Amino acid sequence: MTSIPPSIGIIGSGFGALAVAIEMQRAGHTTIRLWERSGDLGGVWRDNTYPGAGCDVPSPLYSFSFEPNPDWSRRYALQEEIHAYLHHVADKHAISPLVQYGREVTAATWDDQGSTWTVTFADGEQQTVDILITAVGQLSRPTLPAIDGIETFTGTSFHSATWDHDFDATGLRVAVVGSGASAVQFIPHLAKKARELLVFQRSANYLMPKPDKPYTAFHRKMFQLAPPTLAAERGGIWAVMEQFARGLDDASKVGKINKAIAMRHLKSQVKDAGLRAKLTPDYPIGCKRILFSNEFYPALAQRHVDVITTGVQRVTPTGVIDDQGVEHEVDAIVYGTGFDAQDFLESIDVTGTDGAKLADQWVDGARAYLGMYVPNFPNLFVTYGPNTNLGGGSIIYMLEAQAKHMRQAVDRMTAGGYATIEVTHEAEQAYDDELTEKLDHSVWSHCDNWYRHKSGRITSNWPGATKPFAQRTKMLEPEAFSWA
Ligand code: NAP
Repeated sequence: MTSIPPSIGIIGSGFGALAVAIEMQRAGHTTIRLWERSGDLGGVWRDNTYPGAGCDVPSPLYSFSFEPNPDWSRRYALQEEIHAYLHHVADKHAISPLVQYGREVTAATWDDQGSTWTVTFADGEQQTVDILITAVGQLSRPTLPAIDGIETFTGTSFHSATWDHDFDATGLRVAVVGSGASAVQFIPHLAKKARELLVFQRSANYLMPKPDKPYTAFHRKMFQLAPPTLAAERGGIWAVMEQFARGLDDASKVGKINKAIAMRHLKSQVKDAGLRAKLTPDYPIGCKRILFSNEFYPALAQRHVDVITTGVQRVTPTGVIDDQGVEHEVDAIVYGTGFDAQDFLESIDVTGTDGAKLADQWVDGARAYLGMYVPNFPNLFVTYGPNTNLGGGSIIYMLEAQAKHMRQAVDRMTAGGYATIEVTHEAEQAYDDELTEKLDHSVWSHCDNWYRHKSGRITSNWPGATKPFAQRTKMLEPEAFSWA
């Protein structure tokens, strides 16, 4: 470490980056910079602008505990409002001026002698910091499916995360590939405009009713004048979501209740037995992300919308050929096919002690002590890292817990005059054993989902509710690290 307080570089400017930047700044670790590849801050809430984009975690919980927002317009805020909230928080906490835009990090290299990280950007420029914190999210790299002929299509086509806002579906025949969390939100909007909508669904999802409601002027006034009412709203939602997360345990009764609710929702919204059969999942509930919508099923039940479950064989210049060989001519194809969640930091060439490559170390799937610290990579803190995603609950809660832990690490470094912190191999292995034991009982190994690495390892999700994670990370365990 070359400076006191240590210089801190944060990659990203979404919720994770803001959580850690604010936590560090409050503790007096103020030599901070954030590197953002784009021209605006906000992470996924800047990028995902598709019609209907929003969060299916209620906003009083999907927000920072230290920055409650009495002005949410509704319980489940939409993207624009969440993005504006992030700007508000970054401005209020004086983080906005610390963000360097157009800085895409391509490599990060540890210098054993100087105990620093040198970060290289896409334009070849470099910067050096004492502590490197990555906050690149798990869902920042959209993926187009590996379908033959995809590049030959001559109509309009795009991914949900790079929505073409010049595209007008009015009167067109449109295909959607994918039916996950994003598709469930934009399909009802496309269905309102398109002449015909063909939804290519590979797997059905469990869908629950969404208890959404606008917050009236009365609510907002109440939240402003009596903050405990907003805290109570947040606390109530949190308690429900903690129970919901318990349903992701293999043998959970909660899972059975969740399934009954989802099946009743399907039955009440879809009268056609054939369509209902198509929309009934064939895997245990929770194995893929449980979705929430009141509009998705009614959109699919319309006459001009067809759900095609035979799979996509090929894309042609004019349409899609399904697995039965039937060609469906369309004017446009929208891909709601998700993200490369297994990449973690693969797209950055990270080199640690003695030339250790993070990509090599994670070749069988990413792993990290508490999801944050990796042996051979001193002074590297990973935000929203391996096994910190949730099947239910607010990721913001998890990010705050991580930020507090990282802050304690820097507190101890500065107080003790340590230049480096590195998790020991033993501590990381013991943690991984503990985690694997729990993951073995989770529902996520029973189907294909983006939580699993191709090795079979569940690399994305934290097994359980959020409170145990906050408890597990509350106090830094100095003996888990070597300090030098
Ligand atoms: P996703 O949930 O991973 O869904 C991708 C969809 O594309 C799935 O239906 C998948 O089918 C399908 N697909 C992928 N490759 C395909 C192929 N080759 N042929 C046919 N279908 C294919 O992606 P997403 O909807 O963008 O959501 C990703 C994550 O973002 C979510 O799980 C969630 O964590 C987050 N998100 C959250 C919200 C929110 O409200 N909080 C909203 C949007 C997104 P299979 O299921 O068969 O793989």
